[in-house]
Amino acid sequence: MAVKNKVVVITGASSGIGEATAKILAKNGAKVVLGARREDRLRAIQEDIEAAGGVVAIQKTDVTKLDEVRNLASMAVDQFGRIDVWMNNAGVMPQSPLINGDVKGWNQMIDVNIKGVLYGINASLDTMRAQGDGQYINTASVAAHTSGINSGVYSATKAAVKMISDSLREEEAQAKSGIRVTMISPGAVATELPNHITDPDIKKKFESSDLTPLSPDRIAQSILYAIDMPKDASVNEIVIRPTDQV
Ligand code: NDP
Repeated sequence: MAVKNKVVVITGASSGIGEATAKILAKNGAKVVLGARREDRLRAIQEDIEAAGGVVAIQKTDVTKLDEVRNLASMAVDQFGRIDVWMNNAGVMPQSPLINGDVKGWNQMIDVNIKGVLYGINASLDTMRAQGDGQYINTASVAAHTSGINSGVYSATKAAVKMISDSLREEEAQAKSGIRVTMISPGAVATELPNHITDPDIKKKFESSDLTPLSPDRIAQSILYAIDMPKDASVNEIVIRPTDQV
């Protein structure tokens, strides 16, 4: 598989989609470099991957801090010599109605979901340009395409991921750098993401939903597909949701 021996950096790798992607890519021969704030969780994932014979490195990383994101990139290059894929996956979703004025939650979403993606690009693009090869996987959401009650700021941050991804793809195509940009837009996935919601009514709505969310493994499988696609084909976007999600 084309993914074999690729060096793949994943932010937000300590749970959910990031963890599942790390495991499936490592299983298929990628060397995975994992960043997130919860070091204990990263260490447990490292043990799982190594026990299965995979190659992995971890580093405590807060994506809202540019120097930490740059350190993650440097560690990947020091350990493995290159960065083939950078997955900007870290994200938070403390949803609330705008009337609540949850400025802290708004800032957190802007800092992690938007600035975190920009910092990831900043930390790795020069390396990929020098290689003449590379790929970004930016985790957006179906919320990048539509908004609704309680989702104004979250959707705005994910729409920003789409705009940033589209610009980056066009700039790199124009520069003929060989760098591909893939945006992944999942619907409902069973992860810890709703845990960030503090509003009790919204939390209850999530908990009482009769929708069965996808396993994060499904998202990981689709990311594997995008990375494994031969270099002349760039999977621009994958939208993937539970079959019964409206
Ligand atoms: P999780 O909550 O399981 O994962 C979120 C990840 O982001 C964690 O690893 C967390 O690690 C990390 N993270 C949060 N803040 C920071 C930070 N400041 N610095 C570094 N890492 C951070 O949820 P998901 O797996 O669902 O989320 C992954 C992505 O998927 C997000 O971008 C989310 O918006 C997106 N998404 C999820 C959907 C879903 O239904 N679950 C649907 C559509 C998109 P730590 O706390 O250790 O730092």
